Amino acid sequence: MTETLIITDPDRDRYHTFGYISWWQQETVRSATILVVGAGALGNEVLKNLALMGIGNLLIADFDTIEDSNLSRSVLFRAADRGRRKVDAAAERVKELNPDVNVKTWHGDINFEMGLGVFRHVDAIIGCLDNREARLSINRFSWAINKPWVDGAIQELMGIARVFWPGQGACYECTLTDLDYQIIGLRYSCPLLARDNILQGKVPTTPTSASIVAAFQTQEALKLIHGMEVQPGKAIMINGLTNDIYTTEYPIKEHCMSHSRLEPIVELPQVTSAATTLNELLSIARKDLGDEAALQFDGELVVAMNCPSCGEETAVFQRMARLYENEAACPTCGTKRDMTLTHHITGDEDFLDRTLAQIDTPPLSIIRAHNGQERVYYEITGDKETFLRFE
Ligand SMILES: [Zn+2]
Ligand SMILES: [Zn+2]
Repeated sequence: MTETLIITDPDRDRYHTFGYISWWQQETVRSATILVVGAGALGNEVLKNLALMGIGNLLIADFDTIEDSNLSRSVLFRAADRGRRKVDAAAERVKELNPDVNVKTWHGDINFEMGLGVFRHVDAIIGCLDNREARLSINRFSWAINKPWVDGAIQELMGIARVFWPGQGACYECTLTDLDYQIIGLRYSCPLLARDNILQGKVPTTPTSASIVAAFQTQEALKLIHGMEVQPGKAIMINGLTNDIYTTEYPIKEHCMSHSRLEPIVELPQVTSAATTLNELLSIARKDLGDEAALQFDGELVVAMNCPSCGEETAVFQRMARLYENEAACPTCGTKRDMTLTHHITGDEDFLDRTLAQIDTPPLSIIRAHNGQERVYYEITGDKETFLRFE
């Protein structure tokens, strides 16, 4: 890392002051891509900070819309934004704050709907979340593709900011207790198709807690993109009631479920979810792993739904995790339908001419192929150019 002091004209360069910071590399900041997951109280503050610093590319991910109760803690939102997607309002205000910043918005459920490869192609991941489930998802993704992430949590005047780095210190899941798993488990209590039941954690907090914790998160991300030292597996604990700030190190859990890496990941720059068929991907796998190679999905793919009552059969081709409970009801007679599921593509299927997108594969997904002994993880890298396009 070079440490050149570049002093510019304060009247013409908005980053002039940063030039006096010995380690600050505006070019590094300008060329960085940061994924911010969650555009709520923490996300607003983090995005504001990243915009002011001139981060080159921001990928803003959130599934929510704005309501009036967000306005007390969200510097980027206005009363007129009610009902808008949080990502859209946040992106607009980020551009107002700093037109140099390129933004891409993504509206969806981070647990199931973002391709794992997206996480590989950003320089830092900042979680601005209010629930354990999404933190656990990001933590597992981070381990799977071996990239650090910065977590933040706030409640009343308390806050935590922490960096988790696969293989270096404890991870988020290492910190979870039995009670945490019970709370996460509520989400899955009605096993399938139960997304309607999610209760979003409405955690009482203040704009001050959000700005304090988000400031620490942003600083940690800034260190990450500069390749500076961070303290993975340690938390910065902030108690705003007593003004205590201290760090604490989490113990590593020996049999932590998150400690699993996808290896090897093979990039397929010529493969896209929109144009490549299952058959074509299977051919690639068979070239690499032999004629017995099969593709395997993490979750179940709902191929069809069949009504036991009126006999109606409908092709579905959606991943089960993305379906809502009410979609199981037969549109003709209302009976709960049976599902034809698969998570294994062996070459005998009658839908091999479907593209990856047509079987509900998100852009930049990573798909496992195996032949019984060896495994390869294929990244649909051809999506990178279209998906990771910042404006
Ligand atoms: Zn762990
Ligand atoms: Zn029916």
